[in-house]
Amino acid sequence: MFQNEPYADFSQPGNRSAMREALAAVRAEFGREYELRIAGARLKTAEKLRSLNPSWPGEVVGVHQKATASEAGRAVEAAAAFFPEWSRTSAERRAELLFNAARILRRRKLEFDAWLVFEAGKTWPEAEAETCEAIDFCDYYARQMLRLASLPELVQLPGERDRMVYLPLGAVVVIAPWNFPLAILAGMTTAALVAGNTVVIKPSSDTPTVAAKFVEVLLEAGFPEPSFALVSGSGAAVGDALVEHPLTRLISFTGSRAIGLRINELAARPRPGQMWIKRVIVEMGGKNAIIVDEEADLDAAVQGVLVSAFGYQGQKCSACSRAIVSEKVYDEFLSRLVSKVAAIKVGPAEDPDNYMGPVISERARQAILEYIEIGKREGRLVAGGAPQEAPGFFVQPTVIADVGRKARIFQEEIFGPVLAVTKARDFEHALELANDSDYGLTGALYTSNRGKIEKACEGFFAGNLYINRKCTGAMVGAHPFGGFNMSGTDSKAGGPDYLLQFLQAKSIAERL
Ligand code: NAD
Repeated sequence: MFQNEPYADFSQPGNRSAMREALAAVRAEFGREYELRIAGARLKTAEKLRSLNPSWPGEVVGVHQKATASEAGRAVEAAAAFFPEWSRTSAERRAELLFNAARILRRRKLEFDAWLVFEAGKTWPEAEAETCEAIDFCDYYARQMLRLASLPELVQLPGERDRMVYLPLGAVVVIAPWNFPLAILAGMTTAALVAGNTVVIKPSSDTPTVAAKFVEVLLEAGFPEPSFALVSGSGAAVGDALVEHPLTRLISFTGSRAIGLRINELAARPRPGQMWIKRVIVEMGGKNAIIVDEEADLDAAVQGVLVSAFGYQGQKCSACSRAIVSEKVYDEFLSRLVSKVAAIKVGPAEDPDNYMGPVISERARQAILEYIEIGKREGRLVAGGAPQEAPGFFVQPTVIADVGRKARIFQEEIFGPVLAVTKARDFEHALELANDSDYGLTGALYTSNRGKIEKACEGFFAGNLYINRKCTGAMVGAHPFGGFNMSGTDSKAGGPDYLLQFLQAKSIAERL
């Protein structure tokens, strides 16, 4: 039976000291150079890419190669060349390798936590949750592949033997974001591999070290070197080449809406020599709402909104960026929220006393601060609103109240610690406001009223809806994850249907 990986409890002194040791060991590896990996070869390029520690941007976490379109093309060709061999490996063997990967990640859990703290700016608990999610993806997809490998039951026509088998597709391009540089990258990659595809991995240029470390896990687990390639570099430089290559069979992307839509468009156009319609999985942004009804447990609602809006600095696709609150409890909710926000400690991610770490980059910090300026004009600033004076990329947790539905900060994804709070006349109005979005990723409702819960289950248009709990923290196996509308193709990562997207079904009818 699949079970989610338990989180280490960092309030235990033993776990705290083990984590401090892991941080020190990882820090000692800062500045190391990592190579591209194509068909088992390790390659260097003339231009380098440096990933920084967002808490202390003077620190270079890793030095990486900056691939060009030519290396991207070679990586796809190598992956396509190895596909026939890898696709003939049995599903049982592929699953076994993935179980190995889960075991290795489990053994190296605190080390991966430490890389996430330093390269992605995650606090200890956020890093731990992500590494556990990566382990879950490996364990879960291995089991799902074993399930799919046994033939599904079909109607048997008289005088025939009727079967259906699932076949892998070919060379898969995985393009990953920086905000879950381990879990999302590992999830997309291992789903493709365990289904029998070969993979070209393109990590985010903000977090390539985590990807390089994960590739070590794949190798140690026994995945053959040519079954995957690692191509670091700027998305603009290699992205189009990977997507447009005629031998690319499927693109699995998680990231922003603009890039996801571009990929979808480019992939739709067949290139000379291309024999298939490329499959595209694009999981994109969100503008997620939590509805706080007058019949809610207000303390639970305040806590749920707080954690969903400011955990990992609001840089989760599932983060709450709109609180839609019944006018009957609006003022009370706001005052309780603001006093809690004022108590949030922001600072370097490696210090476990800080609840919030830095945002990912100076560019992100500037973009978030610009939205805060817009928000100050569109609503009433009630908490935060200023950059924090420090070398790191810090932004204070910010709450802007009385935001209208046409406001940009109500409609556009900010991807930082900025929460818009909006007043609703009644529950129907709240639901209408929540659905007033191009996105449809996550959402939550706090209420004790059963009728309202049923109405939300029916009418709250989000891929992942949560009742009386936060809207972040989807668990593999329990909360298959993916969004509606402009949030993506609703692929439901960590769910029982996910692997089917990396497979094609072949029906075989044999006259007896
Ligand atoms: P991004 O779109 O900037 O980058 C994602 C990846 O695409 C990176 O590896 C980047 O290098 C690459 N890329 C950039 N230009 C490209 C191009 N022209 N062609 C191909 N690839 C290109 O996104 P990000 O800033 O890394 O991530 C944040 C975004 O991801 C947010 O919008 C967030 O909501 C979204 N996200 C969504 C989910 C989900 O499951 N729906 C999960 C995590 C993050």
